[in-house]
Amino acid sequence: MRFLFAYILFTASMALALHRETQHDDVMIHHDYVDEHYDHHEEQHNWKGFYQGDIKLEEQDDENFDQSIRRLNSNKLQKWDNNLQGGYFKVLVYIDTNDYTANQAELIEEAIKNLKYSAKVIKFDFLTWKPGNNNSRPYLHIQKAGGCWSYYGRTSTAHQGQTLSLDNECLARRNIQHVILHALGFAHEVNRSDRDEFISINYNNILDSCNDEFAIMDDVNSLGVPFDYKSAMLYKPRTCSKNGQATLSSTTGNQIDTSRTEASWFDYIQLRLMYQCVGSNNRSFSRTYNQYRNQKCSTQCQCWKDAGGCKGRDDFCKGDLVCQGDWCKNPWD
Ligand SMILES: [Zn+2]
Repeated sequence: MRFLFAYILFTASMALALHRETQHDDVMIHHDYVDEHYDHHEEQHNWKGFYQGDIKLEEQDDENFDQSIRRLNSNKLQKWDNNLQGGYFKVLVYIDTNDYTANQAELIEEAIKNLKYSAKVIKFDFLTWKPGNNNSRPYLHIQKAGGCWSYYGRTSTAHQGQTLSLDNECLARRNIQHVILHALGFAHEVNRSDRDEFISINYNNILDSCNDEFAIMDDVNSLGVPFDYKSAMLYKPRTCSKNGQATLSSTTGNQIDTSRTEASWFDYIQLRLMYQCVGSNNRSFSRTYNQYRNQKCSTQCQCWKDAGGCKGRDDFCKGDLVCQGDWCKNPWD
């Protein structure tokens, strides 16, 4: 009971974190977002109508739930790979200025840019105006549409602006990246078919309303990336808890990392595996972690600035980059 009370207090303190203000060197700083360790999945029992708490299924999926679950894998996934420029896939993003303060918009943009700088295979163009209802290029429309959620991958709605909802309680960098990664095609780490080798699920502590969150999905394709206790896609230990006790725990010497405030190294690697390689049709194809380790750059999987592995070949480097020795560089550097 005492633990439950502490948990309620913790939840309340998170709510109070919204819109707080602090006095600092005579400058009033407005904090329009939650604590950086806040995790929206830990509070997801408040949300209804989403698959696994924060994935919105397309309308045609709702008519056939089994069908929609089968769609949640990398082979049938629609990726944001139809806008190739200079060897990089570009994703257009509109952060709705009606919904966010300047601070909030900056936090969202910074969290997304952080994914770009770290993965280096995908770029984001931030639109300063809302495109028309049938834009020639698909785009993500980030707005407050109630809770923290996204569709899985690119959908048929993307030319009208594919909704991705980030409400006040989602505005922490890792949370934002988590939801963006759903949009780019990432599933939850817990759904991996090999997860029982790394974590145990404590079913006695799970809310009845959270039964699909912990399902193993045989067709989640993690592209050979090891199970990752630091991933932004791994729930924190009290997700969907009905009593404040842990719902998942590690079964190995490694612990679930609750301190991280951004996506992990292996999250970035997985983005590379999904979006680095360009086929003859100018669309992406995915490769495995082993394939990546054996050959980081090739004519189809070109490397980015300052990446090693081009072996003297300019055509192994993206865009105008040239290979100097084994490194992709700007020609004027
Ligand atoms: Zn999620």
